Parts: sequence; structure tokens; C-alpha cells
Amino acid sequence: MADTTSAPRHIRLTSHSGGVGAPPIHWGAATPAERGPIVGTTTTRAHRNVIGTHSGSYSVYRALAVAAGALKREHRADLTNTSPTDLIGPYPQWRDGSKMVSLDPWGAAVADVYRAEIAAGLDIRPTIAVTKAHVILPEVIEAVQKGRLKPDGKLLTANGAAMVTKAAIEPVWYLPGVAKRFGCSETDLRRVLFEETGGMYPELVTRSDLEVFLPPIGGQTIYIFGNPRDLATPEVELTARVHDECNGSDVFGSDICTCRPYLTHAIEECIRGAQPKEAGGRGGVGLIAYSRKEGRALGEVTKFLVYNARKRQVGGDTADQYFARTECVAGVQDMRFQELMPDVLHWLGVRKIHRLVSMSNMKYDAITGSGIEVGERVNIPDELIPADARVEMDAKMAAGYFTPGAVPDAERLKQTKGRGLS
Ligand SMILES: [Zn+2]
Repeated sequence: MADTTSAPRHIRLTSHSGGVGAPPIHWGAATPAERGPIVGTTTTRAHRNVIGTHSGSYSVYRALAVAAGALKREHRADLTNTSPTDLIGPYPQWRDGSKMVSLDPWGAAVADVYRAEIAAGLDIRPTIAVTKAHVILPEVIEAVQKGRLKPDGKLLTANGAAMVTKAAIEPVWYLPGVAKRFGCSETDLRRVLFEETGGMYPELVTRSDLEVFLPPIGGQTIYIFGNPRDLATPEVELTARVHDECNGSDVFGSDICTCRPYLTHAIEECIRGAQPKEAGGRGGVGLIAYSRKEGRALGEVTKFLVYNARKRQVGGDTADQYFARTECVAGVQDMRFQELMPDVLHWLGVRKIHRLVSMSNMKYDAITGSGIEVGERVNIPDELIPADARVEMDAKMAAGYFTPGAVPDAERLKQTKGRGLS
């Protein structure tokens, strides 16, 4: 291992209180000054006012880079020219500490709102970044070729590139608020987080004064089609999908589920929703919120084990056994728990989703339960459902997913059958 000049000679315990110079955090306070900055630095430990550190799961790679001598542990980010391309907020929801408990609403603006604190030596890092991009998808190009989408030269170019504003959001958990969402005590949440991560963060149980946790998990990415400020205007029609990561389908086109076709259908709906009416659009705004929750947040290993169990069971892969096989392997049907998902919508100022491109009752219930109105629910068109994904779709519709058609009965669930393994 390379010698890093700044390598500590002994392990510094984080489990004592101390932190002279750590700014207090008043979650949900009206202004960034009153709320206080989130300081997750690993350099000046006295300044830290959170448990954990930045970059979610990538904090482990950062540690590896330090261990390998490739990164100086005292490196401070040069934030020159990194400011958001679009201003998001502040919105009234930002002043309600209960609306957002899993992200820092000021996370994109730290270089600006905590300029003085940064100049005074605090290592305050953005937990949100906002940029612009062109997205080019084969399904969108096909929609242009088949005449379903009409290029307008601004939001959608003639060669099928869509203009987007996108934001990456790292998780920042306010533990009392997270506990409340899950209906458990903060003490229990802290203890279970500590125990189930193999004791990774002792401060969860030793530092009850630290109420904010930067968990080592994936975050969220949002793609906005149209003007981001329109998201906060209920008079402007909003088409939106909240999508949970599925590497197999989203990236590699696996046909066992509907993730990619539903996502690309939603992107097409978002583009059309945001395009001007003269281009055949709906004159509104579109939003995709993408959460890193691979395989219902069970992870890909579990997901593939479940696939095998489904395909090899007696009678083959049938819709009536879809959830049972997941539960056998994982112990639960789903670990995504949509309780924290609406936070990102409140960050964007959303008060009404006119067209929700999702059939999930769990997502719908979480969104409406958080005080956001939902108009129409847009299902995935039948012709976009791959044959092998019919098992998933029928099982989910029988379990409460929204469908404008008939809910499959027990007999149909037995008959809906996927391919074997070979
Ligand atoms: Zn999938």
C-alpha cells in the first residue's frame, strides 16, 4: 500500500461527542442559514455534524482510492463552474421538515448559500448536482420515424435527441423523520441500521445528538423535459414516472420484466407532454425520477436467484407463484418501500401530477399520501409487454397494480406462464 503522508497513525474513534466547531442542523428551518450546512467531511472531524459521509455507496470507492494512495484524504473539491444549470426552488415545501427527510433541499446550492462557511474553512460539499444533456434513445428515434413524436427543433431534434435538465441526488437522511415515515421509533431505527450493516456506523447508537445520516446506498437521478420551474406550477400539465432501477432490462434489454419498455414509454410520454401543442405535444412538462433500487432493492444477486427459482419450480414460471418465489428467497416480496420516494417530488415543488406513468399502487399511495394530487394513471400499452414479462404484469395487477382492464383472476394467474430456462 502506498504511503499517504496524511495517513493517520491511529484510528480516531468517532463515538465520543466532541465536534467543537460543528455547525448545528435545524432540519426543515426556513433558510439555509438557520438550517445549517450538512458537513460530512472526513478530514476535519471536529466539523462533522452527520453520521456517514458523502457520495452514498461510492464513499467505499473513495476509501479505496485513499488506501491505494491515489487520492489525498485532505483533497477539497474545487467547485469552480460546477453550479446548477437551472435553479430549483426554494419552494414552500422546503420549509416543512416533514415533506423531505431523505435529501437535503439545499444540496445543490451549498457553494452559494454557505459561501461564507466554506471560505471560513468548512468542507461543505454538494449532495445534489444539476446539469443539462441530450438523451438519445432508440425507442425515441423509432417514435420519430413512425410519426408518434414530431421533432420541434427545440425539445426534440430531427434526429431524435431530447433536451433534458437532469439532477443527481445523494441520500441525506434525517433520522427522526425517516423513523416516522416507517412507523418505528428513532432508537429502533438507529439500532437496526447499526446491526444490519454489521456495525458499520457506531455513531448510530452512540451519538444521538447527530440526527442526520448519509447512508452508503444509491441515490436518485431525475430527468426533466421542459422548464424545471413548471414542475411547481399545478396549472402546467405534468407527465411523470417514478422508476426503480432494473439493470437487466433498463440497460441490457432482458425481457423477463417490463422495466425498460415502461421507462421508454414514459420518456416518450414526457417528451410529448412537454412539447408545444403545435408540434403535437401537450404544452406541459415531463419528469422521470429514477431511484437506484435494483431488483426491488433486493439487489441483483437475489433477483437472479429468484428468476431461477421461478423458472425451475414444479409447473413452471406462473403468475400465481410470482410473489411467492421472491418471498421464499428474499423473505419479503419487495424492499423498495416507497415511503421516501415522494421527497424528490417535493424538492421540485410538485403539487399535482396530471399524468402518472405508473401502475404501481405502492407508488401511487406514497405520492398521494404525501399530499400530491394525481390525475390520470397511464398504464404500459399491451403491445410493449414482452411475452415473458406477462407473468410479472399479471401477478402485479392481481396484487393491486392499476389497470384500466380486467384484473386477472386466480385461474388466469395459473395459466399465465413464462419461458423455461433453456
Ligand atoms: Zn425489471
